[in-house]
Amino acid sequence: MVNEQLVPRGITDPKVLTAMNLVPRHLFVENALWGQAYGDHPLPIGEGQTISQPYIVALMTQALQLKGHEHVLEIGTGSGYQAAVLSRICEKVFTVERVDSLIVKARKTFDKLHYINILGKLDDGTLGWPENAPYDAIIVTAGGPRVPEPLLKQLADPGILVIPVGSRSFQELEVVSKKDGALKSKIIESVRFVDLIGTHGWQNDFS
Ligand code: SAH
Repeated sequence: MVNEQLVPRGITDPKVLTAMNLVPRHLFVENALWGQAYGDHPLPIGEGQTISQPYIVALMTQALQLKGHEHVLEIGTGSGYQAAVLSRICEKVFTVERVDSLIVKARKTFDKLHYINILGKLDDGTLGWPENAPYDAIIVTAGGPRVPEPLLKQLADPGILVIPVGSRSFQELEVVSKKDGALKSKIIESVRFVDLIGTHGWQNDFS
């Protein structure tokens, strides 16, 4: 997976490559999908949600430029795979999920792997997790119409946020950097994510 899918596409950060090598991706999907777990594609994780293609997980992680000391906020725990990869690189991961059954399952996987530096909660992640802010990095793994304002407020200075932004069927991966009080934004890839649903995301009723 690392040598065939990540390195040739420009994932060069050794910390990211090591973490992607380390985390057993198959443990984040059901047994029936184990044979496909390291393939170059997303996979279903139940509740109509998906675990991203390995390349996208690596690209988003690399965009955060983690060194090791960071507190990272993730919105959209899903299977927990992205949080697990982050947890091998930074000090602490805070992850928020809106679907109860997914966070329950993800917690079990974290426990099984003894990944003790991941804290999860059930909530609308478009509101962030103010109690533990600021975060050195924020990653949103569901696609929204815009960058949720509370997340920009909870981002440390300096800090980096990565999020898919666009329509419900197509988004661009936006990297927002905060430095000396100023925000800079760039697009790094075209992507398709499941909906970010919440106060600062899409409404449940497709409005
Ligand atoms: N990062 C996950 C994949 C995420 S799929 C992994 O590695 O497996 C997107 C997830 O975002 C879904 O589980 C969905 O339920 C969740 N989600 C969507 N809107 C959300 C919101 N407002 N707050 C928290 N989670 C949300």
